[in-house]
Amino acid sequence: MAKRDYYEVLGLERGASDDEIKKSYRRLAMKYHPDRNPDDVQAEEKFKEGAEAYEVLSDGEKKSAYDRFGHAGVDPNGMGAGGFAGGSFSDIFSDVFGDVFGGGGGRSSMQRGSDLRYTLELDLGKAVGGDTVEIRVPVIASCESCEGSGAAAGTSPVTCTDCGGAGQVRVSQGFFSLQQTCPRCRGAGAIIRDPCRTCGGAGRVEKRKTLSVKVPAGVDSGDRIRLAGEGEAGYNNGPRGDLYVQIAVREHAIFRRDGKHLYCEVPISFADAALGGQLEVPTLSGRVKLKIPAETQTGRIFRLRGKGVKPLRGGSVGDLMCRVAVETPVKLTAEQQALLKQLQESLLKGGAAHSPRESSWFKGVKDFFEGLKP
Ligand SMILES: [Zn+2]
Ligand SMILES: [Zn+2]
Repeated sequence: MAKRDYYEVLGLERGASDDEIKKSYRRLAMKYHPDRNPDDVQAEEKFKEGAEAYEVLSDGEKKSAYDRFGHAGVDPNGMGAGGFAGGSFSDIFSDVFGDVFGGGGGRSSMQRGSDLRYTLELDLGKAVGGDTVEIRVPVIASCESCEGSGAAAGTSPVTCTDCGGAGQVRVSQGFFSLQQTCPRCRGAGAIIRDPCRTCGGAGRVEKRKTLSVKVPAGVDSGDRIRLAGEGEAGYNNGPRGDLYVQIAVREHAIFRRDGKHLYCEVPISFADAALGGQLEVPTLSGRVKLKIPAETQTGRIFRLRGKGVKPLRGGSVGDLMCRVAVETPVKLTAEQQALLKQLQESLLKGGAAHSPRESSWFKGVKDFFEGLKP
């Protein structure tokens, strides 16, 4: 299904101010919030659509990309600049609502960790043949010094007096009485008087871990490998997010890939082209011999069957196309020049038979000028 225009989703015109965008989204989200529309699939869809629109339009960089290129400019499946792209729905939600609904971003409720994306650069050979690659990714781990409590060694957090340890308080807002994350303890239900020096009281620290990624043979730029549960840690025993490894294949010095076929250019000498001969051409799996018939012209393509790529999603192996380019000899010695002159004269005596393309081209030029005469 085609995506609706993000401004349309929020009921705005193009050029709407940041404030208008925020207000519109807030109105829409209040109306369609799942807590108020339980089991209403349509409301949920509207709510998600609004959240997506707001995520883009509230971010200066994404907004200007969207304004210029539309959905293509902010496609989450597009290539990132490399490294990680995190960020989750809960971030923007708490940004706009300040946890009015409770659990929007607070730590008191179970919450799934964010998905992460890692861009993995690969050489063409590894992408075609498959590989196992070790990558280092950041992980949020429970702090060892305080065992995740956030309190310094020998101390422990004390129960928050404002919420009695619940992490939530009820507040009246207009006609509504809403649950809100306790502002004093920020939903933790406890207050740390003496924070742990290792994690600064967060109870979590960032570490790096090594993951082994099995890259299947045939991957291409843009393919994604999902590592379930390797994303950001969840909150309060919520499930971990996933890690998406996005493939980016480096340019190759010799081969160009297009789908399952590989292309390369093979320079051959003027003599080999005329007389025919046997060449050695490279393939990803080593050199192979290629027979060139006599009278081979520049631009002729020789197809080496099965020397391309075995597609990731099945099907026959692609081919390697070798495009021949005849190389004009350079740095000729006096002797070679003399020999070529001799050849030239001999060819001239034979006339058009030796160079049919050149002859027909000159004839075309002559006809063209004659056609111009009154
Ligand atoms: Zn509290
Ligand atoms: Zn700690």
